[in-house]
Amino acid sequence: MTTLAFVGLGQMGLPMAGRLLDAGHDLVVWNRSPAKAETLVARGARLADTPTEAARLAEAVFTMLSTPEALEEVVFGAAGLAEGMGEGHTLIEMSTVGPDVIRDLSERVPDGVDVIDAPVLGSTPQATEGTLKIFVGAEPELAEAWMPVLEAFGRPIHLGPPGSGAAMKLVTNSILGALMSGLAEALTLADAFALDQSTVLDILAESPIGVTVKSKRALIESGRFPPNFKLSLAAKDLRLVTGTAQNAGLQLPLAMAARAWFEVSEAEGLGPYDYSAVTARARNRPVKG
Ligand code: NAP
Repeated sequence: MTTLAFVGLGQMGLPMAGRLLDAGHDLVVWNRSPAKAETLVARGARLADTPTEAARLAEAVFTMLSTPEALEEVVFGAAGLAEGMGEGHTLIEMSTVGPDVIRDLSERVPDGVDVIDAPVLGSTPQATEGTLKIFVGAEPELAEAWMPVLEAFGRPIHLGPPGSGAAMKLVTNSILGALMSGLAEALTLADAFALDQSTVLDILAESPIGVTVKSKRALIESGRFPPNFKLSLAAKDLRLVTGTAQNAGLQLPLAMAARAWFEVSEAEGLGPYDYSAVTARARNRPVKG
């Protein structure tokens, strides 16, 4: 049993922190909106007043925050994690922020702090069940030391040196964005041909895009898109993908097209809904809450 801190109790962070309690760890938590910590506190977690306090109380801190900007604020802002960390501390960054942010983080944390990138594949059901895939970027000894703790969340896979876990996560999400916007365009085309939606979805479910169709069919048919993975976060991921591509001099026109679909949907207010709401935007259909 190790004292651990978990910072960022959103849709993913809350069930993931719960997995650390299930595994028997002594847990300190912090969230910008403290009410989200109530269920964890009822199960024995301590609620820190600030990120600094959470970091001081724990050997390692996990972060699961929405964006690079949120991470910057929580680590380096007033009463941030950095103020509470020093020699012997480990920061395990699990949000989707890309390898450039991880490099910058590693350079700016106080001397003696180890940084591991460990973003995840899977959504809220996998976070709750402890069946996420965790993409670990770290030096081999550090990865080995933290593997048993990371197993509380699912299956950790060591990709290579720092930043490589964050890089793998952008690779997977470049495909997610293209698949969902591809489905949105296919359904728009089917509408133009006046095909029956239910039959179209039955047939697409058995096609190469079947996994996407099966996982989002109920939302598409109901017109309601409560989020598992918010559309605003998908737009953020595609900005990270296209930004990285641009810096590397790569042409990724599919990722650019997917980004355009998600950004127009976000600009029209669909950011808080599930990312599959991009299908409704493409089809010019209402999103019913
Ligand atoms: P979420 O539900 O939107 O939660 C975001 C968390 O970040 C909340 O704890 C929020 O605090 C905190 N936050 C945002 N801005 C902040 C700020 N300026 N200062 C302090 N805290 C701030 O997001 P999520 O779905 O859990 O996703 C978390 C990360 O995992 C994202 O990078 C996402 O891309 C990635 N991810 C998500 C999924 C998924 O299916 N949802 C799957 C894989 C990876 P409040 O509670 O106070 O708002």
